[in-house]
Amino acid sequence: MVDYQLTNLRRLVVDGEDFFILDPIAVERVLLEGASIDGALLFSESLAGVAWEIVKKYPDLDLGFHRGLFSRNKWWACVLFNSEEKGHHRVNLQNEVCSNCGWQGVIGNPLQFEIYAGSEDREKAFERAKQLNPVNCPNCSEPFQVFAVWVGE
Ligand SMILES: [Zn+2]
Repeated sequence: MVDYQLTNLRRLVVDGEDFFILDPIAVERVLLEGASIDGALLFSESLAGVAWEIVKKYPDLDLGFHRGLFSRNKWWACVLFNSEEKGHHRVNLQNEVCSNCGWQGVIGNPLQFEIYAGSEDREKAFERAKQLNPVNCPNCSEPFQVFAVWVGE
C-alpha cells in the first residue's frame, strides 16, 4: 500500500482548515487500492469515489482531503469549488431537477452544514459561502430551488 507524505502534497487552507490535494493518479490509487496519507486511511472510499467521477471532469473542482472534526485517524474527502473571484469553497455535489424546465444534472451546494465539520468557525464559513454568486439552470436560466454555486454540463 502506498503511503503519501503530507509534505509532498499541495496544501490549501479553506475556512481555517488544512486540505490536501492529490494529483489525479494518486487520487485513483487512494480510492481503488486503499492507499493512505501520512499513515491514515480514507473514510468511505465509495462516497469519495462517486464525487471523484464528477470532480475529475471539471478544472474548477478539486477533491480535498481533510481530517474533519472527529477524524478517528482517517481522512475525509470533501469537494472544493474554486471560484475565480472568491477562492476555494466546500460544496456538496447533489442531483437537482429544475422545477421550471425539468433539466436534470449535478449542482454544487455550499449550504450544507455537515461539510463544514473541521472548519474553524462553521457559522462564519456558512456566511462566507452565502457571498458566492448563485448559478442558474443551464437550460432555462431560472434560479434553482436550492443555493447552487456550481453546475455540471
Ligand atoms: Zn431549467
